[in-house]
Amino acid sequence: MMRLAEELYPICRSITGAGLRQTLDIIGREVPLDRHEVPSGTRVLDWTVPDEWNLRRAFVEAPDGSRIADTAEHNLHVVSYSAPVDAVLSLDELRPRLHTLPEHPDWIPYRTTYYRRDWGFCLQHRRLQAMTAGRYRVLIDATLAPGALSYGEAVLRGSRADEVLVSVHCCHPSLANDNLSGIVVAVALAKELLGKPRAFTWRFLFIPGTIGAVTWLARNEEVLPRIRHGIVLAGVGSRHDLRWKRSRRGNAAIDRIMALSLRHSGEEAVVEDFVPYGYDERQYCSPGFDLPVGCLMRGKWGAYPEYHTSADDLGFIAPERLEGSLAVLRAAAEAIEHGEEVWKSLNPKGEPQLGARGLYSDAADDDRMALLWVLNLADGTHSLLDMAARAGMPFARIRAAALALAESGLLERLSAPGHPC
Ligand code: ZN
Repeated sequence: MMRLAEELYPICRSITGAGLRQTLDIIGREVPLDRHEVPSGTRVLDWTVPDEWNLRRAFVEAPDGSRIADTAEHNLHVVSYSAPVDAVLSLDELRPRLHTLPEHPDWIPYRTTYYRRDWGFCLQHRRLQAMTAGRYRVLIDATLAPGALSYGEAVLRGSRADEVLVSVHCCHPSLANDNLSGIVVAVALAKELLGKPRAFTWRFLFIPGTIGAVTWLARNEEVLPRIRHGIVLAGVGSRHDLRWKRSRRGNAAIDRIMALSLRHSGEEAVVEDFVPYGYDERQYCSPGFDLPVGCLMRGKWGAYPEYHTSADDLGFIAPERLEGSLAVLRAAAEAIEHGEEVWKSLNPKGEPQLGARGLYSDAADDDRMALLWVLNLADGTHSLLDMAARAGMPFARIRAAALALAESGLLERLSAPGHPC
């Protein structure tokens, strides 16, 4: 995951353009990806696909010839979606175009102007303070013209039509936690799922934020009734605690599943209610769709100082944090795939003699309790997910107990794997 993040980090991405396509090329090397190109000017819900932006180079040159801000040094130096410009300006004329972070004078802020034609530069406040009166050359060698919006979909077909949606925004340039972390964790999860039998169809979306989700929704209304669970992945590589933002419904199955997976993750974790702000769950949870989609994150959008600055670099994410996020998703995926299974005890009157069947003596305490919980709740009305929640145990432990009991002839499955009863 870190190697993939390192490869993607230097690319100058935006909501359209060559950097986004290059990113999708790399993702498509890892997982089978359907590519889509939606022409500029296409109406999508209440939005319009914007002109395509491609940047070759942008810099501000001081009177002495030194470069104050140069995209060859860092992609964040130019305001994303800046209109082309080639001019010589006084410091007074240039000053309103320069964005800095006075409270973090060595960081470069990340700014965009997607839907308003404008231009500007972002730089370290310390550099701004050192600028003196004189003539500054500004160059933004970019194209902002009709083209297309690109996105990718990796659809992993399962045995049933019901779908799990995993959505990540992949439009930010040279920012690691937001959201190379989401991209690389999604890719890793997709690769794991590719190697396993699946009941659900898993649909991974690699899309530009907001406009990508709106575009996908506008073009896929017939898919929406099949979406049973949805997860937006954003900012999952930083040192912050794990965090699940519930779907708008608040009580969707995915909300139960993620709460359970977080509780047994071995990490500190927070579960919070839906608010109509944040990442692309805003679009999926708009009232006309109201999909069961929440958001897994670590750092909360806008709530940490490194957010949308050059300090969100590769050093800001950590392999063990990416791995921890992936582990939670792995546990959630097992609960999604098998949580609806209903099992029935074939020996419900009194406890069966587990010792005689070799199930009890070697088992660890937790595993013994799991056997007892499954036997007790296997009355034909509780799903495996119900059992795990009631027992307060990881889903995988409850499922392993059910499989061991079935092996001993004590349990039978009432519903086929992955099928609702
Ligand atoms: Zn962002």
